[in-house]
Formats: sequence, structure tokens, C-alpha cells
Amino acid sequence: MSLVIAMDGPSGSGKSSASKGVARALGLRYLDTGAMYRAMTWWMLDQGVPVEDAAAVAAKAGDPVLESGTDPDAPTISVDGADVSGPIRTREVTNAVSAVSAVPEVRARLVALQREIIGTGGIVVEGRDIGTVVVPDAPVKVYLTASEQVRAARRAKDLAADPGATVTVTQAEQARRDKLDSTRKASPLTMAADAHEIDSTELSLGEVIEAVVRLAKEQT
Ligand code: C5P
Repeated sequence: MSLVIAMDGPSGSGKSSASKGVARALGLRYLDTGAMYRAMTWWMLDQGVPVEDAAAVAAKAGDPVLESGTDPDAPTISVDGADVSGPIRTREVTNAVSAVSAVPEVRARLVALQREIIGTGGIVVEGRDIGTVVVPDAPVKVYLTASEQVRAARRAKDLAADPGATVTVTQAEQARRDKLDSTRKASPLTMAADAHEIDSTELSLGEVIEAVVRLAKEQT
């Protein structure tokens, strides 16, 4: 397998910016698996599926057609042919996604899709279970963290257009999501035994990218 870099960690740890930066620096593709769970959630909400009802979500998990573009300069995500890159970032989707991603049928479908896209490698993949479940033999595994305050401040900045998304509200919503993601039965967020932990609280984006590129170069 050619290079696969697995980038896992909680929300707001800086995975997306770092993963895209690493992919650009090394000329690799980039896959945002969180966007796939978000797209599935957006579709469930759009179809009126009660997202807290795991059986209802499971029954529909095979229906939407999801497509992910892997150019780190212009990643795309579409559902049934429609670009949903904007709508999947709303608070409504963000606050519903953990219920949907906890459903085993959703995970089975998306993990299969992810493995298809990853193929023989040459890609940076970000998510929650990449190093533990999706590509357990990935040659480079990173677990990116940051303090809760820094993570909430980053998320609130992403949501600047939403007046309800203050740092305090974002921090509470994020804590709830992280708890759901790390305590669910199916593939909970956890650090792989052989992952390198990088705490980005005090690091610039450039420093995080540099650290991951260094790890990748040590492997090749
Ligand atoms: O990374 P992002 O915050 O966009 O992920 C959205 C949600 O998708 C997470 O909170 C989690 O519930 C789910 N997710 C997951 N497994 C992944 C990636 C994301 O369960 N590999």
C-alpha cells in the first residue's frame, strides 16, 4: 500500500486544516470522513427521518448516493448529485451527527465507501476511527488534540455567521458531541495504540503540518 496518513482526534483539534496542509505538502489526496457522516445526517434531516431513532436511520442508511472529491485544494461532498458542502456545516447538522454516526449500519456503509476511495493509498484521511478501524495498518497514524477552550474557540470561529454560536454555547455542544462520539458502542473515538499524539494547543498550524510531514518522511 502506498502512503496513508490517518488523522484522528476530537472536534476542533485542527484536523481539517492540518490534513489538507499535509496533503498539499506531500502531493497526496485528502478525504474528510466527517463530511461523509455530516452528509448522511443532512440527508436524514432533509428526508424527515427521526435521527434519534436508530432503527429508522438504519433502515435508510443505504439510500443516499454520496460522493467525495479528494483534492485538498477543493474538497467536495455531494448527496444525490447536489453539492452539500455548505448545509452540512450548520449547527442543526452538527448537533444531530453523533446520533447518526453511532448507528452501525451507517458506519458499515461509510467505512466501505471510505476504503473504496482510499484504494491503494496516497492519501491523508481525517476522522475519528481511521487509525483504529478504517485503515488499521496505515503507516502513519496521528491523534491530534488541543485543550477544550482552544477547540471551542476554533469551532466558534468556523460558525461566526451563526449568532447563537458563542464560545460558551459551542463549548457545551462540542463537549456533548465528543462524549457521544467517544462513548458509543460502534467504533468510538479512541487513540490507536500505535498513533503519535500531537497536542496542538500551543502549536501553529504550520508547526502541526511540519510535525506530521516529518513523521511521514520517517516512514518512507
Ligand atoms: O470531523 P467532523 O467534526 O466534521 O465530524 C462530524 C461527526 O462525524 C463527528 O462528530 C462524529 O460523530 C462523526 N464521525 C465519525 N467517524 C469519523 C468521522 C466523523 O463518527 N471517522
